[in-house]
Amino acid sequence: MKETPSETRTRPTHADLSFQRCISPACGATYGIDEVRVACEKCGNLLDVMYDWDRLEVPASLKVFEEKWARRADPHCFSGVWRFHELLPFAPVDQCVTVGEGQTLLHRCDSVAQYVGLKPGRLLLEYEGMNPSGSFKDNGMSAAFTHARLTGAARAACASTGNTSASLALYCSVSRLMKAVIFVGSGKIAYGKLSQALDFGALTVQISGDFDDAMARVQEVSRELGLYLVNSVNPFRLEGQKTIMYRVLEKLRWEVPDWIVVPGGNLGNSSAFGKAFFELHQLGLIDRIPRMAVINATGASTLYDLVEKCGLRWNRGSPDLETVKQYYQEMDAQQRRASTIASAIEINRPVNLYKCIRALEVCNGLVRQASDQEIMDAKAQVGAGGLGCEPASAASVAGTRLLVSEGLIGPDERVVCILTGHQLKDPNATVAYHTTDQELFNKVLGSHGVSRAAYANRAVAVPNDLDEIIKAIRLYS
Ligand SMILES: *Cc1c(COP(=O)(O)O)cnc(C)c1O
Ligand SMILES: [Zn+2]
Repeated sequence: MKETPSETRTRPTHADLSFQRCISPACGATYGIDEVRVACEKCGNLLDVMYDWDRLEVPASLKVFEEKWARRADPHCFSGVWRFHELLPFAPVDQCVTVGEGQTLLHRCDSVAQYVGLKPGRLLLEYEGMNPSGSFKDNGMSAAFTHARLTGAARAACASTGNTSASLALYCSVSRLMKAVIFVGSGKIAYGKLSQALDFGALTVQISGDFDDAMARVQEVSRELGLYLVNSVNPFRLEGQKTIMYRVLEKLRWEVPDWIVVPGGNLGNSSAFGKAFFELHQLGLIDRIPRMAVINATGASTLYDLVEKCGLRWNRGSPDLETVKQYYQEMDAQQRRASTIASAIEINRPVNLYKCIRALEVCNGLVRQASDQEIMDAKAQVGAGGLGCEPASAASVAGTRLLVSEGLIGPDERVVCILTGHQLKDPNATVAYHTTDQELFNKVLGSHGVSRAAYANRAVAVPNDLDEIIKAIRLYS
């Protein structure tokens, strides 16, 4: 049948079916998907990326996504982010930027299960260190980068404790689509991460100050120069990071685990996970939402203090803003600054605070803090029995151990810890833990209150002599 012009209907585009919306229900302002914003113009709150699900083609079952693997010669089916395009459809799939992110393992780790007090088979480590730049940030970067490209950006910027800048630098270098400008605090970045930014050719601006200072500056400078900001205030980053949960479910044959445990820094991941589960539940693709635990470092415990001590709740969109204001006023008055060996979560003012407490409401979540001693011990356990991780990642394992000892997580429950970054990101912390050099130990770890290394694997010093070497190997192996 031939169509007359009056009968022709233009198919809705991605720009018609997705939009940005202020997270405050009282405001609810909306913005086009093509706009570049990091906050609501009317009230200053964060923004969400939203979809008109009723008019989109959503798979009837999560199993549909398994078929994509058979088509992995197509880079968008190979990508662990864009394989789930139907669940983050803000851009046409052929426009989505991929460098092969999201090929990760969910590793059953019984030795770490035993360490935290779970039965064999109940602890699973989602190893995000396998991403191209070695951290989960690549999941978010592929999405933010895609949006940046759609808006015609020529330069992208971020402030970073290291991994965001490494990821941005890599996307710029591999795709050649944009130039990276990164802001780092002085002396606050692990060498593994800094080396990536430099090697990938990013313009690296070192500011005297910490992450929070760099974060404030990059926002100013981005506004002034029109740089596209890829920090996790960028709502598109979080769309990409939702897929970490899709992959966890996929590896569990779409069974929902009992707990997701994740380190909390700027709280982008925890926020993204909450949104992922909320949407899957709303779409009828899962029947149950797992509980979530967010783990702070004791030396960077803003979320823990606000939620567990001050009782801050999302309260269906009306959180008690006064509590937060007072907390930050006191923090500044007392000049309290975050300090932890887990540099990726060394943050005073987490930018996604409100999205995170919303996620805690969705996931019946809670917050714990782990000391640097607990974090380093847990990290050594992950290294000895798992795939290895950087200090911040091990907070999830240390936190799980706490929650099991409190009886909040039962030994039979199925727990997924997110290992956010690769072991090689921060070799200094690892070497200092295992060293026999007390001076090095004190300098790197003692300064953070770590006093012992119960799980250290110390190098054995032997003279350059065949008999002595053989004797040592016989003695120690
Ligand atoms: C960024 C980062 C975190 C913190 O994640 P948020 O989403 O900011 O809470 C934790 N671990 C590693 C390795 C990171 O790079
Ligand atoms: Zn608003």
